[in-house]
Amino acid sequence: KRGVEDVDTLDKRVKAIDVKDHAFETFADLPLSQPSASGLEASHFKILTDVQKKAIPSALLGSDILGAAKTGSGKTLAFLVPVLENLYRRKWTEYDGLGALILSPTRELAIQIFEVLRKIGRYHSFSAGLVIGGKSLKDERERLERMNILVCTPGRMLQHMDQTASLDIGNLQMLVLDEADRIMDMGFQSTVDAIVEHLPQKRQTMLFSATQTKKVSDLARLSLKDPEYVSVHEAA
Ligand code: ADP
Ligand code: MG
Repeated sequence: KRGVEDVDTLDKRVKAIDVKDHAFETFADLPLSQPSASGLEASHFKILTDVQKKAIPSALLGSDILGAAKTGSGKTLAFLVPVLENLYRRKWTEYDGLGALILSPTRELAIQIFEVLRKIGRYHSFSAGLVIGGKSLKDERERLERMNILVCTPGRMLQHMDQTASLDIGNLQMLVLDEADRIMDMGFQSTVDAIVEHLPQKRQTMLFSATQTKKVSDLARLSLKDPEYVSVHEAA
């Protein structure tokens, strides 16, 4: 059982991270909670990919992230690990409401993210849900009220924000936009704008995409504060 001391010690190790010094090669090198460390190990993740090396240390420190790296480079863990850790270190519980919102352009991608979250988050006690439609708004609504982490598609999430009064987002700590370029290409700009308007301004925002497009930087200007730019280029 975790004590206050564990979190304080972990907090000190995180604050001591030097982001200029990319010395983290493995997940075991990072200052991570025991539940995350165990979940990653049980899922056989050991060595950090380039985008994870660059994004995770800054994200653990609470920086906004604007990350671009090609498909297959491991972006999912680059945001899921900080989501779990930053809530854990804030001692997030069921009573704290929604702590992190992860937006994905399609249902299929949202399901994939959710499955990775379930795998690496298996030893955490957070509640996590998928909001992708397909069920009645009412059925989704009842489960939403108790969720700490939601993975969702933009349209469905906005529908709940407009219609689910019990959805408590006033405490939200982290917003993630995965495949932000595709979110924009699919015409979700105004939906995302409307979602962001519902969220607390003081929060951490992480934006990931496969390409560095103009549209994504437009979006970033809306919501990112002094972001850490993470860009991984293919080896020549
Ligand atoms: P992206 O979102 O950048 O397209 P994913 O997060 O979907 O990439 O990861 C691509 C693949 O790489 C997945 O099969 C994932 O399990 C694997 N992967 C991600 N990070 C690691 C890692 N640190 N070590 C080994 N495999 C990894
Ligand atoms: Mg991805």
